[in-house]
Order: sequence, then C-alpha cells, then structure tokens
Amino acid sequence: MAEWQRTHTCGQLRTEHVGQTVTLNGWVLITRTYGNQVFVDLRDRYGLTQVVFEADAADLFKEGKELGREWVVSITGLVRNRLPGAERTDIATGTVEVEAKVLRVLNACPQLPFSVTEFPDEELPNEDLRLQYRYLDLRRRSIQRVLTQRHKVCKTIRDFMDANGFLEVETPLLGKSTPEGARDYLVPSRVFNGEFFALPQSPQLYKQLLMISGYDRYFQIARCLRDEDLRADRQPEFTQLDVEMSFVEREDVLAVMEELSADIFEKCLGVKIPTPFPRLSYAEAMAKYGSDKPDLRFGLEIVDVSDIAAASDAQFMKAALETPGAVVRAINAKGAAATFSNTQLKPGGELPKVAETYKAKGLAWMKAESGKLTGSIEKFFTDELKAKLRERLGVADGDLLLFVADKEAVVCDALGAMRTHLAAKMKLYQNWWEEKAAHDEAQKKKVDAAKKRKELYAPVPFQPRPEHFNFLWVLDFPMFGWDEEEKRFAAMHHPFTAPMDEDLQHLAKDEDLGKVRAKAYDLVLNGYEVGGGSIRIHRQDVQSRVFQILGMEAADAQARFGFLLDALKSGAPPHGGIALGLDRWCMILAGTTNIRDVIAFPKNQRARDLMTGAPAAVDARQLKELGVKLG
Ligand code: ASP
Repeated sequence: MAEWQRTHTCGQLRTEHVGQTVTLNGWVLITRTYGNQVFVDLRDRYGLTQVVFEADAADLFKEGKELGREWVVSITGLVRNRLPGAERTDIATGTVEVEAKVLRVLNACPQLPFSVTEFPDEELPNEDLRLQYRYLDLRRRSIQRVLTQRHKVCKTIRDFMDANGFLEVETPLLGKSTPEGARDYLVPSRVFNGEFFALPQSPQLYKQLLMISGYDRYFQIARCLRDEDLRADRQPEFTQLDVEMSFVEREDVLAVMEELSADIFEKCLGVKIPTPFPRLSYAEAMAKYGSDKPDLRFGLEIVDVSDIAAASDAQFMKAALETPGAVVRAINAKGAAATFSNTQLKPGGELPKVAETYKAKGLAWMKAESGKLTGSIEKFFTDELKAKLRERLGVADGDLLLFVADKEAVVCDALGAMRTHLAAKMKLYQNWWEEKAAHDEAQKKKVDAAKKRKELYAPVPFQPRPEHFNFLWVLDFPMFGWDEEEKRFAAMHHPFTAPMDEDLQHLAKDEDLGKVRAKAYDLVLNGYEVGGGSIRIHRQDVQSRVFQILGMEAADAQARFGFLLDALKSGAPPHGGIALGLDRWCMILAGTTNIRDVIAFPKNQRARDLMTGAPAAVDARQLKELGVKLG
C-alpha cells in the first residue's frame, strides 16, 4: 500500500478510534480558520470527517490554510475526541476529529464553477449549470444518496426476481422498430447503406419471443429509447423493469408485481405497503376521476349531472348536450367557496383557464352559501332541480360546484385536471418530502436550541408512512382508441395486447371495435403511471386481424412483423407481462418530481446532454460511410 493511501474512509471514524493514527483520502469541502486552528471538512462518498491543523506545527498550519475547496488530499493524523460542545449529532463521525500530522495534496484545482456544499438554506446553482458540470454536481451528498437508493432498488428487484425463478436475459439495442406509440431513434447501417436499425422503445417483441422459446419467467432492467417531447417526468432514454411470464393470467402478473412493489418499498424506504392494491376499471377511472392514472390520495369525485342540466334552462349546457356523446359533469369542491373569489371563477380567471387548457369551452360554477345556491347560472335551475343537484353532489354550505359541458373526452380531461389543480391548491394531500422538509426544519431547531444549552440532541430522521403512497391498478382498458387525425383505430396499449375472451366476437365487425376491451393493466402510484402491461395475443390469426384493424395490409404486416407471425405459429404459449418505469419509481422513492434528479447523466428538457454537448455534428467522412446526406 502506498504511503498516501487511506486506512479509513471519511465516514468511518468513531470514538473507539481515538488515539489511532489514520490516513484519510478525500475532497476538501470547506475550510475555516479560527486564530490558531484551521478546520477542514474532508469528504468522500462515505461521509465527512473534520480535520484540524494546529498552529504549533507552523509549516503544516500554513499549508492547511492554503487548501482550496475540492482539492483532493491525503491526510495522516491522530484521531481525537472533539471538545465538549463541539460534537455534531448530524454526522456519523461527529464525536471525533483528526489532528493533521502529514498533508499530501494529490491534486489541486482552481476555483470551480459552483460549490457542492448543501447548507440548509443554500440555493442550488441553476440546473443547466449543474448539468453542464454534472461530474461536480454528482459530488453532492443528496445526489449520492439518491444514486445509492437507486442501486438498492435495482438490487432488491434482482434479488426478488431471482428468488421467484425469473431469468435476466439481455435483448438487443440494435433492432427493428417495435411500435410502442412513440417515435424511434434510428441508427444508419454502414454495411447496408440506406437501411436503419431502430433503438428499442422497449424489449416487447424479444420478450414475447423468449416466451415462445420456453424461457417462461423473464426479466430485464432494460434501457428504452423514445424520441418524444420531454416533460418533467420523462427522458429520451429511460430504464424499465421489463417482465414476461408464460402460462399466466392477469391475476398472476398482478400478484407478482404487488409483492415486488411491497418488497421495494420496505427495503428501500422502510414503508410497509398493504396489498392487494385497490382496482378501478378504465371506465370507472375516467368517469369518476377524469384520468386513467388518477391520484386517489384525495376525493373530489366527478359526478354526472347531464339529466339535471338537460331539464334546466341553461342554454349553453343544453346546446352542448345536443352533440352525440356530450355530457355535463361536476365536481363538488368541498368547503372551497371561500377559497376561490368570483374573479378567480370568471372567464379568464384561474379555474376557467385550467378547463380551457384542456379544450373545454368554459367552466360554470355555483356556490352554496347560507342555505342557498348562488352564482350566475343558479337562475337557470328550478328549486326542484337545485334540490336534485344538492342531493347528487352532497352539497353543504361553503361548497363550490364546478361544471363542464362538452364531449365526454373533453369533460374528462378538463375535470380530471381540475381535480389535481384543486387538490394542490386546497392542500388535500401532502407529499411526503414536504412533510420531511418541515420535520427536518423542526429537528434542526431542536439541535440548535440544545447547542445553546450546551447539550446534544440527535435529530430523529423522518420516516415516510404507508398513507403517503397510493397504489392502484387500472384495468379493462378499451382495446382500440379512435385516432381523429388519421381517421382510424389505434391500439390503446400496443398491438400485441390480447382482447378479452368475451369480446373476441366483436373483433370481426368494424363497427363493434369500440366495444372490444383489452387484457391490459396499468399500475398507478400517486397519480403517476408507474407500470403497464398486458396478457398478449398468442394466436397468429388474432394477431393478423389486429394488424389489419390497425391499418396494416397483410403484405405490410408480413414485411414488418413476419418473424412474430411465424413465431406465433411455432408453438406459442399463452403469456403476458408488464414493465415498470424504474426512473419514475426512483423519483417517487427519492421524494422529487424531477426525473433528472435520479439519473446520473440525464439529458435536459430539450434532449441534449449539456456536459458532452451531444447530439453533435459528425465528420463528413463518417456520413459518407453511412450513406447519409444532410439537408
Ligand atoms: N412494452 C410495454 C411498454 O414498454 C410494457 C409491456 O406491455 O410489458 O410500455
């Protein structure tokens, strides 16, 4: 071992090491000089140790004073107890410090673009800068914690899947495009100019082929790539726990996933999630919550009042109802009459804007005050109709009723968005990390107060609880959705999803296709879709018919999916599976709403890697080899 190499990490020393000579390696987080002592916080991935340079050793003291932030150093010194009152209860090494005897600077550096300290009130540098210098940003304790937790999630998954007889099998990155509803990333072939590989949107077809090959329990922590417009909870390349099983029905897949979910939460967050998870049909989710991934941490159910509206004199509602498939639905925002002023409810105000963002023509409202319904549309309803509204919506004084009249899909979207907007505004639920922030703040006050009394107080860590997490299965999706732009049916899940047995008969006639339900399921957690899958088609004739319904001629289907159709004729077992969005899981487990926080090297909102600059131009020679001409 070289002289400078560490004997301990920066998170290892305790009172029992007092009196030992040790060598630590790490980064200088900060230095503080007080008269005849220099204090250095030395950091590595394992923790933080305080090192002291004493003025008696004049040369060493001078060197200690000159240390810069983020220099990499080796320090040999003597472990000693901190002075009474100088102990820290918030770090594991807080009772001891190291008196420096030898300092070796392994690498000095100039002042860096930002500091990686995380003091309680310190504001982070802006995200673009952090992404540009991601290797510095990754030094922050909070990101180290998140990546450590992510590792633990993957380890828990692998242990669980292994214990349950699943095999991890890798599938190709360079393949043929598999439609999962997004745009492909394409890779031009050098050997076959003019031909392209597609990077996988998911391993969907490979995992089905593995079932046909007899690998009846498969999983993979797989990279997937989709060239889509990004949102806060999406990245162009993401990771999925991909699972497939043979000889199973829906219930088998759901049961394994519930057990796995509970295991992940218990091992990675210390939370015991109750199973089985509640279930909703797609139809019920849309009607009651206006969304196929409803957040059920709060109520605010949507209620149909079309019949009452039709009997009223509200012309705009009646006119809307004339369109086939139109409905009038309402939300009773309990106790919110005083929360929203009439200005916030007027056209152009806060709440109508939410509805309009989702293409609703407007938002009507009433308030329940002093035993009466008030507001501009109240006059269109007779006392009898008002009584009906009160009963159907469970109205009490102080309530705010919000109505949207439109085509059903628009009403669902608008009132679904209204639900989440209202819940956030009315604070109907608390995100666990918000509760944690308040908890940590209170604990810090206790630590400070104890310090003033010259006592020690060890902060109690925050523990999330089961009620912070709302798991839910959404089932019985329609098989096809009508694509208004392309004037044809599109697969709601993907084209390999099996129809329900009792709906197979409806596949034959084009006019019945809207009635076909799929054996698909989504896993929802706190309003995020965190998983989705289905039982697959394992009969070649059914798969061919589905391709045809989706607008693929037989020759076209053969050209694109001939290998699958042939495989389905070669002894395909009944099979089904699911994929969990690992990044989203990690995001929720880490208590953030920004998916980039849980990925070591993420792309920014515009799918660019700010650190390397990718995507970037390439040599003309490379393009020529690939047979690619620009512009
Ligand atoms: N391949 C699907 C997806 O990535 C998941 C599945 O059906 O297993 O969404």
